[in-house]
Parts: sequence; structure tokens; C-alpha cells
Amino acid sequence: MAKPAWDHAQPSRHKRGYGRQHVRLRAQLLAQEPLCRLCAQKNPPRVTAATIADHIVPIAKGGAVHDITNMQPVCKPCHDEKSLRDQGKTYRPRRAFGADGWPVDD
Ligand SMILES: [Zn+2]
Repeated sequence: MAKPAWDHAQPSRHKRGYGRQHVRLRAQLLAQEPLCRLCAQKNPPRVTAATIADHIVPIAKGGAVHDITNMQPVCKPCHDEKSLRDQGKTYRPRRAFGADGWPVDD
């Protein structure tokens, strides 16, 4: 079956290994839990709208990609912080993120 034209117009999500299934799970997760889970755990708790479905166990460490139980709603700052911790790196901005929380490739 031929792919729809829009599929070719947005290749970046697929390059990252995320397909339509991830998009659907992310929408489901954010509908169930629209606030950043990591902000809610801070002391004092913060109330921040989540824009990203973060993998609790990173895929690089064997976490399930398309499993909503391995996903948590987070905001971009928390996601960046967690990614850096996971990678043991210092902050080095590389990509812009769109309003929907997805990275914008050039
Ligand atoms: Zn947050």
C-alpha cells in the first residue's frame, strides 16, 4: 500500500524511530495525564503542562518503545534534564522543538 503524501513531508519523526503508533500513544498519555509528572514530584510541586511522552526506561537501555506503561508525560525542561542525566552529558542545545514538543529538523 502506498504511503500518503504527508508521510513523506514529515520524515523526522520516523528518522527518530517513532511512527504513528508512538504519536497515538503520546496523545493517549497526554489526554489521561496532561501535566508534567516530574514537575509534580518536585518540592514544592509545580503544575506544568506536559508536551512530551518520555520513556521512563530509555530505549537505549532496553525500554519498551510502544508501551504506555513505559511512558510518562513531561514538559520540555524536565525532558531535557532527564535526557542529560541519562546520557551523563552537559547541556548543549542542538535542536529546536516545535510547539507540539517534537524536534524540528532542518
Ligand atoms: Zn516538568
